[in-house]
Amino acid sequence: MKSKHFLPIVLLLMVSCGKDSGKSNTAGTDKPAIEIEVPSFNADSAYAFVAKQVAFGPRIPNTPAHGRAADYFVETLKRFGAQITIQEFQADHFSGKKLNLKNIVASFNPDKNKRLLLAAHWDTRPFSDKDADKPNATFQGANDGASGVGVLLEIARVISSNNKPDVGIDIILFDGEDWGEKINEEDTHSLPQELQEWWCLGSQHWAKNKHKPGYSAYYGILLDMVGAKDAQFHREGYSMEFAPTIVEKVWDHAQRLGYSHVFIRKTQPGVTDDHLFVNTIAKIPMINIVHFEPGIGFFGDFHHSQKDNMDLISKDMLGIVGETVLNTIYFEQ
Ligand SMILES: [Zn+2]
Repeated sequence: MKSKHFLPIVLLLMVSCGKDSGKSNTAGTDKPAIEIEVPSFNADSAYAFVAKQVAFGPRIPNTPAHGRAADYFVETLKRFGAQITIQEFQADHFSGKKLNLKNIVASFNPDKNKRLLLAAHWDTRPFSDKDADKPNATFQGANDGASGVGVLLEIARVISSNNKPDVGIDIILFDGEDWGEKINEEDTHSLPQELQEWWCLGSQHWAKNKHKPGYSAYYGILLDMVGAKDAQFHREGYSMEFAPTIVEKVWDHAQRLGYSHVFIRKTQPGVTDDHLFVNTIAKIPMINIVHFEPGIGFFGDFHHSQKDNMDLISKDMLGIVGETVLNTIYFEQ
């Protein structure tokens, strides 16, 4: 992996939010300086993108709200100047039903060979089966789904209205991540041969049928449940197994920006999420920035419960994650 410490140049960082502005390296003044200007991530705008998704209603596959949300993503990302590829497919569901799913890919700088992949899932789990009182009810999915997509839509807006990063960016909104088998469900069919899990249907499909033949990326970053107040992100096990240098890179950016209280350098077990299939099937190193709750473990007690609603969502947290990811992509040469 390339490291900026080995570049024969001086990196001058200018962060337009002001936090780190003016940092410069005056050593080696005879060497050419590269100026890296990282545009501002607007946390209010990211929050509005989360609220907009929640206002559609739960984005459950095979429902009108799911269709309306997909149209909104495509229209918004087109407005931001992205090249869009829509991947429509059907997948089996643990009860034997067929789900009509849509992965949405938005590409910036399509001619660049070196590409980074940013992803989140946009579907909502159809029931809050970890909720003690309402295990069969739907829920908002403000954090589980909408928060990651909200951050990515804001990153797309920032890219469209500022200087572009030096690398190509592909944002993938994966569908069908969250319709894994229900707790205590007896009517669960056996897995069809083409699936490894009932979870992560969109990423499993994309990893085997990429939106462009032969597509690859330098690395990927998955965002899942990144908007809760006081969230922490620990180093997730599969990220450390498949892409430890990318974890270090992102956690280093977070530390430089003053967010070491959020991006914690403790390694935890792996979680089955979309990045697993991008790593194992598509062979693209991908990390997961995913909520970890000390004392509870990954996801926290809002997970798949009625507590996963807009009251949980913090603009500050969306801003911390968005700024960290934006710095990571703009520093990539
Ligand atoms: Zn979920």
